[in-house]
Formats: sequence, structure tokens, C-alpha cells
Amino acid sequence: MTANIIDGKLMAQELREQLAQKVAHLPTPPHLAVILVGNDEASIIYDRNKKKAAEAIGMQCTIHHLDENTPQEELLQLIHRLNTDSAVNGIIVQMPLPKHFNSEQIIESIDHAKDVDGFGIYNIGLLHSNDSSAMVAATPQAVLYMLQQTLGNIAGKHAVIIGRSNIVGRPLASLLLNNHCTVTIAHSKTVNLPQIAASADILVSACGVAKLVKKEWIKPGATVIDVGINRIDGKLCGDVDFDEAKEIAEYITPVPGGVGPMTVTMLLNNTLRAYIEQNSGLKK
Ligand code: NDP
Repeated sequence: MTANIIDGKLMAQELREQLAQKVAHLPTPPHLAVILVGNDEASIIYDRNKKKAAEAIGMQCTIHHLDENTPQEELLQLIHRLNTDSAVNGIIVQMPLPKHFNSEQIIESIDHAKDVDGFGIYNIGLLHSNDSSAMVAATPQAVLYMLQQTLGNIAGKHAVIIGRSNIVGRPLASLLLNNHCTVTIAHSKTVNLPQIAASADILVSACGVAKLVKKEWIKPGATVIDVGINRIDGKLCGDVDFDEAKEIAEYITPVPGGVGPMTVTMLLNNTLRAYIEQNSGLKK
């Protein structure tokens, strides 16, 4: 058997066309503010891509690029200004911040109605309470969307997630649980990981270890979603040994061209949602 490829690039393109149509009917463009501190090359590229993707669907995106040595207080003041600016609908702070910042305080200073990354405790609390008003982090939403597009109803499926970070593993576990999956979260201290992984109908890897997931880790016919972004000899690869896994899975995402393009799309979707909620009086 050779797995069907879940084409994240194509899905993202289709969803972005739908978003562009919705944006075209709004009186003003939704506005995303991106705060970038320092000169981390990967972060600069990520943020440039976000701006390009936002503008391509008619949104406005402003990158506030601050010096590496910006004091915490100055960043907090900028966030306060953006929080109170009614022309700004979404705010994200590119992580990781330089070491002298208190990242938790920075994240918590973002107005929860504009927290389109969904990293603040308020939105995390809503998500964990299965409250649909939660603004959910983009990558977990991308994974859910891809699963629903591919499998339809995922209720009752056993999902195993490798990774328990605050930005991928944990919110994804809640999201899948809220969608009636039976969820197992694995991490670096998990014992018998290959056997646990092999019990999954849906296997999501988000651990950042290149080609960790081998064919023996996959139940025949499973759906495999590879969130990992790694490099071997400069070449991009995921956490899953794709060539092996595609022989046993029924559906699989490639890296690149899988979860990555869908993540940016979900960020734009969150920004549109924030705009609509702020302008309909649903949220302040
Ligand atoms: P973190 O480093 O924050 O978390 C990694 C998680 O994986 C931890 O929970 C860790 O366990 C677990 N882990 C590490 N090694 C192993 C192992 N050998 N076996 C089992 N579990 C392990 O990473 P992120 O969640 O931020 O990102 C994960 C991956 O996803 C990265 O490759 C990242 O680049 C990628 N990513 C991709 C995105 C996309 O859009 N495609 C978006 C975000 C991230 P423990 O908690 O015990 O340390």
C-alpha cells in the first residue's frame, strides 16, 4: 500500500481563496500586527512570509521590528498601544524572544481578543474548558482542519500525539479531545513509545526529532500528521521517516508542503475571526 498524500499546500491555497473572498466583502481590511525583536534569521523569514500571505488575501500586516536590546518595558508599551488601537485586530509576538525578556509577561499583556496566536492563558483556559470562543493556536488548528478534511468525522478515533509543548502538543490534545477523539500524549519520558504510537488511528508527531517515527510505529491504515520541521544535511524533513511510513499509513502529510502552509493560513483565519468579533461587538 502507498499512502495518499495530504497536500497541505493545496488545502492552504483553497482556504486562502475563501478567506480572500470574505475579506473582499469587509468595509476595511483586517489588520495583523507582528512584533519581531532582534535579528534571528528564521524569525525574519517567518514574519516576512506571514506579511506576504496576509497581503495576498487583502489583509493589512505591519511588522514592528525592534532592536535586540529593547527593554521589556518598551515592548510592553508597544503592546499596550496596539491593544488600544481599534485599527489593529490581531497581535503576535514572534518567539523566541531574546533571553532578557520575560516571555510569559509579554504574552499575557496581549489583549485576549487580539491574541491570534492563542498563546495567552485566557484562551488556553477556554480551549481546555471546551469553550468554542477560544482563540486556538494556529498549528493545532491546522492539524484538526487537515484531519477533518481528510477523514470527515474523527469522533472515537484513538489519536496519539508525540510532543507536549504549549504551542503544539497540549493545545492539539485538547482540540482533538473536544472533537471526541480518545487522546494519548507522549513525550521524551514515555515508555514503550513505538507500541503506543502503533495503537493510533491518528498519529501526530510534533517532537522535532528527524525521522524518529519508523514504519513499525504505525498501525496499518493509520493517518499520520507530521508537524516536525528538521534538517538533515541542510534538507528539510519531518519527524516521520516518510519513505517508510508511506508504505503502511493510509494518509500522510509530507514535509515540506504539509502542516507548514496550513499553519500560516490558520493564523490569517484567526485574524479574520478577531476582526469580525471586534466589529460585531461580540468581544471588546
Ligand atoms: P518543543 O521542543 O517545545 O517540544 C518538543 C516535544 O517533543 C516535547 O514535549 C518533548 O518532550 C518531545 N520529545 C522530544 N524528543 C522526543 C523523543 N525522542 N520522543 C518523544 N518525545 C520527544 O517543540 P515544538 O512543540 O515547539 O515543535 C515541535 C516540532 O514541530 C519542531 O520540529 C518544530 O519546528 C515544529 N513546528 C512546526 C510548525 C509548523 O507549522 N509545521 C509549527 C510549530 C512547530 P519533553 O516535554 O519530555 O521534553
